[in-house]
Amino acid sequence: MKVPLLDLKPQYQALKADIDAAIARVCESQYFILGPAIKEFEGAVAAYSHTAHGVGVSSGTDALLLALMGLGIGQGDEVITSSYTFFATGGTIARSGARPIFLDIDAATFNLSPALVRGFLEQQCERRDGGVFNRATGGRIRALMPVHLYGQLADMQSLGAIAREYGLKVIEDAAQAIGAADEHGQRACSFGDVGCLSFFPTKNLGAFGDAGACVTNDAELAKHMAILRVHGMEPKYYHAFIGGNFRIDEIQAAVLNVKLKVLDSWSEGRQRNAAFYDAAFAAAGLGDKVTTPYAVPGYRHIYNQYVIRVQQRDALRKHLADAGIGSEVYYPVPLHQQKCFEYLGYQTGELPESEKAAAETVALPIFPELEQAQLQYVVDSIAGFYRAA
Ligand SMILES: *Cc1c(COP(=O)(O)O)cnc(C)c1O
Repeated sequence: MKVPLLDLKPQYQALKADIDAAIARVCESQYFILGPAIKEFEGAVAAYSHTAHGVGVSSGTDALLLALMGLGIGQGDEVITSSYTFFATGGTIARSGARPIFLDIDAATFNLSPALVRGFLEQQCERRDGGVFNRATGGRIRALMPVHLYGQLADMQSLGAIAREYGLKVIEDAAQAIGAADEHGQRACSFGDVGCLSFFPTKNLGAFGDAGACVTNDAELAKHMAILRVHGMEPKYYHAFIGGNFRIDEIQAAVLNVKLKVLDSWSEGRQRNAAFYDAAFAAAGLGDKVTTPYAVPGYRHIYNQYVIRVQQRDALRKHLADAGIGSEVYYPVPLHQQKCFEYLGYQTGELPESEKAAAETVALPIFPELEQAQLQYVVDSIAGFYRAA
């Protein structure tokens, strides 16, 4: 049996007629840039995220950068985020000119720890001149950038309260979490000032290439981001701001319009697979060898990834590969240990939960079209590895 980490072909086969027709319409129109499919998609994706305005962009990375630029964050500013995330989270903060402040995660959820954010602000920052400043660097703390890692919301209640108390903006990195919600049904991207989405092909809602979006309830901010998306140009050839080319392609929007309508069924499929894994691992009785993902009670976890903590991770991965099972490590090196961030001065051991997660976790196949026999085979293979050990 073969169990790939991800196979997008069955999803395409199921929607082929509609997707091909949507692409053909774009080809017929030869309207490639900021056309009608983008307008439709921006409205639909904003509504899906329970927000009022959408700005389609070229990638999830550009969504984060545009959000930072839209909020006027740059040189002299600092943005707090978690160290255990995809590179773009920290990379865009640095590219905006601001300094990333990497804090540790909650060990159970892998998301930014509100207690550590509060501790940092209380112990290492001071309020003056109407702002809050990092005592060590003199930089002004401007925003929190929580990541909803693997498809589960960060603790937005607590982080939102801290942000209000300290006058900070909130940019949600919801690249892995479109439609994730808390126990009240409130969705990712609707808590902060801006929510950033990625439609990289491996995300729950994947384009046929790179694409992303910013969504927000702030009409002014949406308008400003839409201008920055086209080089800060408004009206044509007049530039009050320096923006970039952050546009989404019409063809990508056309594909996404078809896919967004069935996104819920895919997220349900992932949840069904996660529940199967949870039960099968419990039945396998692996004790402390395998820790299945912690789902916050009542939250809508969309399982962009199903990530377990394991002993002997790298040997297990080899065993799985030999058995024809795909797996991946998201992410082997936390951002505070990346070479490009050496200038920030973090030491190994400083963010122990991020370092531990990077060393102990592995993502298993979870895409919706997997069959139960395949899921059981994955669990049996893992059980076999520890029984032999
Ligand atoms: C995928 C991802 C991004 C970047 O999205 P791209 O569309 O690949 O640029 C940012 N943050 C997180 C957490 C991601 O998983």
